[in-house]
Amino acid sequence: MSQDETSTSVQPVITEAEILRRIGDTAYNFFSETLNTPSVTGFEMPVQQLVRDYISPHCDSVVTDEHGNVAAALHPNAPKRIMLAGHCDQIGMLISYIDNEGFLYAVTVGGWDIVQLVGQRVKIWTKGGAVSGVLGRKPIHLMDDDDRKKVPKIKDLWIDIGAKDKEEAESLVTVGDPITVELTVMRMRNALLAAAATDDKAGMWVVMEALRRIDKNKLHPEVGVFAVSTVQEEIGLRGAKTSAFGIDPQIGIAVDVTFATDCPTIEKKQNGDVKLGAGPVVSRGPNMSVKLVNAISEIAKSNEIPVQYCAEGRATGTDANSIQVNRAGVATALISIPNRYMHSPVEVISLADIDNAANLLARYCESVKPDTNYIPSV
Ligand SMILES: [Zn+2]
Repeated sequence: MSQDETSTSVQPVITEAEILRRIGDTAYNFFSETLNTPSVTGFEMPVQQLVRDYISPHCDSVVTDEHGNVAAALHPNAPKRIMLAGHCDQIGMLISYIDNEGFLYAVTVGGWDIVQLVGQRVKIWTKGGAVSGVLGRKPIHLMDDDDRKKVPKIKDLWIDIGAKDKEEAESLVTVGDPITVELTVMRMRNALLAAAATDDKAGMWVVMEALRRIDKNKLHPEVGVFAVSTVQEEIGLRGAKTSAFGIDPQIGIAVDVTFATDCPTIEKKQNGDVKLGAGPVVSRGPNMSVKLVNAISEIAKSNEIPVQYCAEGRATGTDANSIQVNRAGVATALISIPNRYMHSPVEVISLADIDNAANLLARYCESVKPDTNYIPSV
């Protein structure tokens, strides 16, 4: 564990150069490409194509199911099955209405804080390519006192694509087209990175990278590992539900983001002490198998991988929730990447945490034997 290392808020256990060396250019570029590629819930196809292209050479099979989940597997026919799940969908918007002046209105997909959308550059992903726009609002000078006090609603905001009228707008975009904020990756000091939708492209990257890092000589031939880039997590953990049913694993580990509490205003007494760069977060609570969590903790200890712990008193809002109650029940764990400013265009994570999470999962999978089971007992 890493809690005892230093008292600074960001704790790279190793230097940034060393973290980048460990990750390697190919894997880093894959991550950054996924962050620059749209995957609004229900419209994940562009990212899923990247995932298939990237992971195919490193696994025995890649299957896309009817729902859109992409499962890359080692030993897909093995009797013992581990499912690693990271969701690839991102929160966004859909065009709902085009007015006579050519301004667009939108509905949200997933849980946006509307304040975060005001003034954003956006991209509308149409059949004909991306259309650029901005999310506008009345200037503060023209607002009366009541306007200023009001929290904006999505229906009060519009998207301006520069069209001169409805006809021109309709020639470019269609009701139902998905919208994201402008997708960019910004690197920051101490191996931190800011981008929209590190929730949960970070987790998706971790499960694919874990699969790639598994030493096939160490993976038991009767143990199969399925790294799944799940869809539609943001509107109710839906891809994890369908993919877990299809794969029918005995062991399931979801990788998502969690709230880093090392920035202003976040309450530690309820949300725990979670720092960027101090390691992936292992959740404890009823949504997790006690024995599986213990096994993962042992692997972290023996491989000197830093981890942090947090307590979750209920079914989590992650794929771990769906996976645990699949069919007759699955031994489930949740590994989380600390994330500042979740569900904003500038979510911040640490590259050290995703690197450590991928190692933790790879080493864990290599340790599983066909007779490993986590059926609760004392
Ligand atoms: Zn989310």
